[in-house]
Amino acid sequence: RRLGVALVGLGGYSRDLLAPALQLTRHCRLAGIVTGSPHKIAEWQGSYGIPDANVYGYDDFHRIADNDDIDVVYVVTPNHLHMPQTLLAANAGKHVWCEKPMAMDAAEGEAMVKACRDNRVQLTIGYRMQHEPNTRRFMAMAEERPFGRIVKLRADAGWFGWRDGADDAWRLDPARGGGAMYDMGVYCVNAARYSTGLEPTAIRAWNETARRDVFGEVDETMRFELEFPGDIVAKCVTSFGRNLNTLQVDCERGWYALSPFQAYEGNAGRASDGTVFPAQLGERPRMQAEQMDQDALAILNGSPPRAPGEEGVRDMRVLDAAFASARADNGKVAIGG
Ligand code: NAD
Repeated sequence: RRLGVALVGLGGYSRDLLAPALQLTRHCRLAGIVTGSPHKIAEWQGSYGIPDANVYGYDDFHRIADNDDIDVVYVVTPNHLHMPQTLLAANAGKHVWCEKPMAMDAAEGEAMVKACRDNRVQLTIGYRMQHEPNTRRFMAMAEERPFGRIVKLRADAGWFGWRDGADDAWRLDPARGGGAMYDMGVYCVNAARYSTGLEPTAIRAWNETARRDVFGEVDETMRFELEFPGDIVAKCVTSFGRNLNTLQVDCERGWYALSPFQAYEGNAGRASDGTVFPAQLGERPRMQAEQMDQDALAILNGSPPRAPGEEGVRDMRVLDAAFASARADNGKVAIGG
């Protein structure tokens, strides 16, 4: 059986990556849409053969509870809507896939985990990199330690995309979860955690926004240092002002790196002993297809997804502490667990 997926929010990511990827998946299919933009409906129905009964607005979204053709609701809206829409979908009895960052803070994330648990549906975060083979190799190396103990790590993630393709400039609006840290910093945090296999205990963060005239109240650039058990330090930069896409893990007897490490395609790298990590999965949107197939299989098999809601909450705790540090003169802030 192929699970029916309804996309909530038909912006750039749904249009350019997820809907095309759902044409490549084997265990799920694009079954429905939820949108506040009626002018998009005809084109989406025409392109993907979506029946009228599977088209919803934000005001009648709750009626999805009565629709057996839809098994999964995939939340792909601006970040401030992830929590309310996840709660709505969970209470309608649907499994939820939610884009990163999962919420505005860890408390929202915990409420999402609880709502999905209470309704006995899966909550899975759209951490597409956790389905990419080179990234999965790095996760395994956290255990195998081919170059001895990990000493330090660098993860940098940035892009100019806050102004490209989006329907409006919500990425510059603090009330809607704008800023580089929510958008791209979460890749650094997630990478630091999956590359070490450990949870960070403390953080210092510096908001280095250079252009207040453009970025107003959101962060253009954040630099942060994470402390992990075993004296491992992760140094990270995230930015809307620079293209950054490198992950490097330094160990006692060598290093390994991916650059890019969070692109839609072509994630590749090498290690100090000459090992090469060639790009995997092929061209976009193969990664998103792999992600959604794996996440669908978890539902079909009743097994835990690779990136459950709890995984998103752990990242949100780090983001909460990063914002607190940046506000408090860059002092060290403990990361709660
Ligand atoms: P976008 O601006 O292109 O699309 C957002 C959609 O939400 C639009 O269709 C818009 O009409 C709709 N929307 C509903 N309520 C809105 C509101 N109050 N304000 C603004 N728009 C509203 O954004 P996007 O790039 O598609 O990002 C959507 C989500 O997907 C974000 O959470 C983002 O972080 C995530 N994303 C993830 C990846 C990834 O690689 N995993 C890539 C891009 C985006």
